[in-house]
Amino acid sequence: MNSLNRLKFVMKEISFELSSEVKNKIKETLLHHGINEIGGIIIGRKEAEEYFKIIDVSISIEEKSLSFYRFFKSARKSQKLLNKHFKNKTGYYIGEWHSHPSFSLNPSITDAATMFGIVRNSKMNINFCLLLIVKLMDDELLYKAFFFHKDLDNFITLKEKALDTSANNIE
Ligand SMILES: [Zn+2]
Repeated sequence: MNSLNRLKFVMKEISFELSSEVKNKIKETLLHHGINEIGGIIIGRKEAEEYFKIIDVSISIEEKSLSFYRFFKSARKSQKLLNKHFKNKTGYYIGEWHSHPSFSLNPSITDAATMFGIVRNSKMNINFCLLLIVKLMDDELLYKAFFFHKDLDNFITLKEKALDTSANNIE
């Protein structure tokens, strides 16, 4: 990617949409597992050049925060869910999610390194990846989503598609 394209890419606004089913699925999981870090993969679709729709998530309870080890393990365990969506043409792998029970919704240094590791690993053949970070606060689901691309030096914070604009941008 040349520097002009790179700049255009960074200037673009990228948005995402989280279905209410997914919100409920994540919220239920967090309510049951409290302070433990939980994560899994994100299944969704690129609806337009700058717009991603999150259709489903897999849930891996026993695994700790994002790492290459967890990435491979969770991808293998999520295969059934991926196959189902592939068969129904509802979605495909678009990234990873996990909870930050007691800290900010921004990616940690390890999170960012792992995500860039995924998109820059030529063997994986993944050009981009979303990272969704979630937490519960007073039983309300808070979340932020980020976009990682193999040709970008920094991640991009995604804007939520304006369905409801309430309190999802808390640091
Ligand atoms: Zn994290």
